Amino acid sequence: MLVSLAENAGFCNGVRRAVKIAEESTEEKTEWYTLGPLVHNDDVINHFKQRGIAVLDNIEEIHLSNDEPERGIIIRSHGVSPELIERAREKGFKIKDATCPLVKRVHDIVRLLSDAEYDIVIFGDSEHPEVQGIAGWSGQNVKIVANLDEARLLGKTAKLGLVSQTTKDEKEFFAVAAALLDTARELRVFNTICSATRKRQEAAWVICQDVDLMLVVGDRKSSNTNTLFKECVKTGVKTFRIMNASEIEADWFRGISKTGITAGASTPDWIIKEVLDRMTDYEENKQEQQETMEQEIQEQSNLEEESTEQLSQEQDSPQVAETSANEESFAKMEAEMAGFASPSRGDIIKGIVIQVLDDDVMVDVGGKSEGIIPLRELSLKDVESAKELVAVGDEIEVKVLKWDDDGTILLSKKRVDSEKELDRLEQYAQEDKIIEGTIIESVKGGLLVDVGIIAFLPASHVDDGYVKNLDEYIGQTLEFKIIEFNRNKRRGSQIVLSRRELVAEEKARLKEHFWQEIEEGQTRTGKIKRIVDYGAFIDLGGYEGLLHVSEIDHRRIEHPSNVLNEGDELDVYILALDREKERVSLSRKKLLKSPWEIVVEKYQEGDIIEGTIVRIASFGAFVEIEPGVDGLVHISQMADFRVEKPEDVVSVGEKANLKILSIDPGQKRIGLSIKEARNDMESQEVEDYLENQEDNE
Ligand code: SF4
Repeated sequence: MLVSLAENAGFCNGVRRAVKIAEESTEEKTEWYTLGPLVHNDDVINHFKQRGIAVLDNIEEIHLSNDEPERGIIIRSHGVSPELIERAREKGFKIKDATCPLVKRVHDIVRLLSDAEYDIVIFGDSEHPEVQGIAGWSGQNVKIVANLDEARLLGKTAKLGLVSQTTKDEKEFFAVAAALLDTARELRVFNTICSATRKRQEAAWVICQDVDLMLVVGDRKSSNTNTLFKECVKTGVKTFRIMNASEIEADWFRGISKTGITAGASTPDWIIKEVLDRMTDYEENKQEQQETMEQEIQEQSNLEEESTEQLSQEQDSPQVAETSANEESFAKMEAEMAGFASPSRGDIIKGIVIQVLDDDVMVDVGGKSEGIIPLRELSLKDVESAKELVAVGDEIEVKVLKWDDDGTILLSKKRVDSEKELDRLEQYAQEDKIIEGTIIESVKGGLLVDVGIIAFLPASHVDDGYVKNLDEYIGQTLEFKIIEFNRNKRRGSQIVLSRRELVAEEKARLKEHFWQEIEEGQTRTGKIKRIVDYGAFIDLGGYEGLLHVSEIDHRRIEHPSNVLNEGDELDVYILALDREKERVSLSRKKLLKSPWEIVVEKYQEGDIIEGTIVRIASFGAFVEIEPGVDGLVHISQMADFRVEKPEDVVSVGEKANLKILSIDPGQKRIGLSIKEARNDMESQEVEDYLENQEDNE
């Protein structure tokens, strides 16, 4: 089967640009939102959601305050009105404008028309965000017409400008323009229809002329995908609309020799690639079936030729006939003549292991001849030696592969195991049951999973969103559903798996449980998922909360990564919950002793301690006692003599011995004295000296 991809399938330049801008924004510290979905495609939306860019329907949903992280709005390719941008700025949002340059051009045209006092007509759908954005740039005298009938109802005016929604049909636009000729004394028509949609539709039409079946890839919510689908259906070619590769059904391609593929403007390249990969898979499978069929026909005709030849040789020379007889039949016949029941090729029989070597296993199958299982036919798993799997005396089930001319029978245990596994998995597939498997390898387009036999997990079914690095799943044992089971497939995997739905269900369950259980004031253990400049996102088991940098410690933290490490576990206090917006604010600081609590526990009045001068004022010097707690040495406590200026006796950064004169936790004040510390220390020195002298006498 030939597969052709239509030109211009997938993202148009405007959408590609917007997606690129959003992708770049995921690397920044700002918390970005898109105003409305970036594209009409759930896979893309989920991809960005997982990378921290949520969809905001209305900017009034969020109230910004100074202690919150910086937030920003990405304007999608449809564009918005200038008022909306202004309002977002007023609210404190940063703005990234991903409006398509072609839509921006329409904004410029209507603004100029409005400045020149033209009435403006927009041909388009009044509910479409692009049209609403254009109307916002058009001033007061703007009307939106959806079709020719509505255009004919417009009243007379002096000066009129006509523009179109970029994705409208050109013929309809010209009909509307013609209908407006009578409406105004001066009519200015700007064809603002984008050629991307037209080119995509034309390319799809061209390909439809040459194929038996057409696949249109795109989200069901995408209006341009729906239009594309209708255009393909109109050509009379059998057409299916699919969201992604998982919706393709093998039955569609029976009797089909050429398939065409196109995709809507909101379909990312990776979804198109998966569809192409899946089609290649079908193609290979079909080719293989063809090859197998041809091979069987060839074998059959060889056999027929052989028997004809044999017959003529037998007639010519009975001696030669004897030696050229089928050796396998001969060995089998011998066994039968000896009175043993002899199994035939393909039979499944039981046998007892009588010898185990590294490379093969000998089996007594109850006849005159022994059976041999070579290591490669012993197990579905790769092993170094047969001794790892069987022992002498074991009873095993084996399949007869062939009789050798010396009378031994070539057996396979692996094929019996494989059939049993396939029976089990077929039942799981029919009953839609969950199976467990271990991911063993990444391959083109997905992962290989050991579920008893090796199954294929397409990349789009690994998680409920886009997975950037498939390799990180290798070695994990996870649960799956079987979405495709084809026992007769000879190349590629007979079993295709998915965990997309399971992951989504599990996340929904964990989320529901999380919101039922969580309360403000609780202490929870979480895992640090992601560190950003303004804090860290903590996975609380089903949901992530934000630990703002100001809530990490009582001390001032320069950057969260100075204190926290991604992947570490920590206890956090549930500071605040916003159930409506599903936000959780956390604190670590609340669970730590405050510096003042530490000071009260650790120090007493009269203690002599060492501290560092951190700041000098006209009335004295501040000394850091503990991180976050400074004490004051009043100028009168600096020396025994009168000090004019504190700088005359101390400097910032200098270490000093200090006596604690007073601790007042209520007022958060500590009084210190350098003078008394020095006097006390000198007195102590004298006392020590005298004591030493007495001891020496
Ligand atoms: S369809 Fe055309 S106008 Fe619209 S976003 Fe794409 S490139 Fe821009």
